[in-house]
Amino acid sequence: MTETTEPSTASAEPSGTDPDATAAEQHGTDPASTFTELYGTEPDGIWAAPGRVNLIGEYTDFNDGFVLPLALPHTARAAVSRRDDGVLRLYSSDVPGGVVSLRVDELAPHPGHGWAAYPAGVLWALREAGHPVTGADIALTSTVPTGAGLSSSAALEVVTALALNDLFDLGLPAAELAVTGRRAENDFVGVPCGIMDQMASACCTEGHALHLDTRDLSLRQVPFDLASQGLTLLVVDTRVKHALGDGAYAERRAGCEEGARLLGIPMLRDLPYANLDAALTTLADAGADESVIRCVRHVVGENRRVEQVIALLDGGDVRAAGPVLNEGHRSLRDDLRVSCPELDLVVEAAMAAGALGARMTGGGFGGSAVVLVEEAAAGTVAKAVSEAFAAAGHAAPGIFDAIPSAGARRLR
Ligand code: ADP
Ligand code: MG
Repeated sequence: MTETTEPSTASAEPSGTDPDATAAEQHGTDPASTFTELYGTEPDGIWAAPGRVNLIGEYTDFNDGFVLPLALPHTARAAVSRRDDGVLRLYSSDVPGGVVSLRVDELAPHPGHGWAAYPAGVLWALREAGHPVTGADIALTSTVPTGAGLSSSAALEVVTALALNDLFDLGLPAAELAVTGRRAENDFVGVPCGIMDQMASACCTEGHALHLDTRDLSLRQVPFDLASQGLTLLVVDTRVKHALGDGAYAERRAGCEEGARLLGIPMLRDLPYANLDAALTTLADAGADESVIRCVRHVVGENRRVEQVIALLDGGDVRAAGPVLNEGHRSLRDDLRVSCPELDLVVEAAMAAGALGARMTGGGFGGSAVVLVEEAAAGTVAKAVSEAFAAAGHAAPGIFDAIPSAGARRLR
């Protein structure tokens, strides 16, 4: 990896760390002018891919279960030109360090690529899959808050995959681009994430949540028109990330696998909710660890909660989804034990101030929560959460409207 240029647009902090910006402010810098400034030509095109927030369905995607994410108005955008000489040049206006220049035939997973591992990993994964991608010049910028559990990483992967798909006429469907992004993150970056984030970024549509079956990647767009119902979904970014998270994720994952093994089923997805009580008794009789029992109870209950919320959205009764969100939070807090004081405080303060429902979203131990609230009460609830954070001595949270937005697309 060589660093060649340090353009004037470089900044020390990702621009995506201002989650207070409204949808109208989600422009960020212009990747096309950055591209021209850096590389001296016009880009072949501009692409965008959003971050996402998961409405419900947590710790289910590695159990072949269900998730229900929606795309955010916040996007990663890429100005890209094709190259045929084996060179890949990468630049992000959100991190310092200038242009990263790589040779595509030398790409290999190893630590030390830093942020560039995400887009480079996508090109690597495409080539690993046999696609003739011969290089590119890329200028990236993103308004997705990083490390807040809103999938800034998937946005980066999917926007890169979509641009290369178009420029090299690969003809890959959106789900295949998501799989490519996940492969990059798992095997090139080295992060053991599930498929939800990339699928959400690639496949979501405006005004909908995405019902994704992570077993076969079948999906359905579930109407989720909050505005017409007088509702708001707030995202509250706690701006904390407790170190516990990575180890705990692996531990819960192992607990789920152990539960399925003891029950003699391929995946926890294969346990119907109606059989949950009997299965928990079986596990207790088999001497299963309490933590395994908790994992099974959470995952099977959570898959059911996804189905409950979908039925409510389909029936037009979005308000009634509130208590299901709360039930999901309780399960993540008490059974799976992946919440943290800051996330619990968001839920408590929001509910006390009149929210319809609230839950942590994403992997937990920090990151973000979602709050379903009457549009008219959104300001009051947001204020109450901010005040509760101040009273507890926490830094101010980032709070914004999760407007269900479009998935990845070409802008020009
Ligand atoms: P999340 O996906 O929840 O935001 P991750 O830890 O999975 O958090 O991904 C964050 C990482 O993705 C950052 O540390 C950085 O390496 C990379 N990244 C995200 N957005 C950008 C960006 N705009 N420019 C450069 N790198 C980025
Ligand atoms: Mg991520």
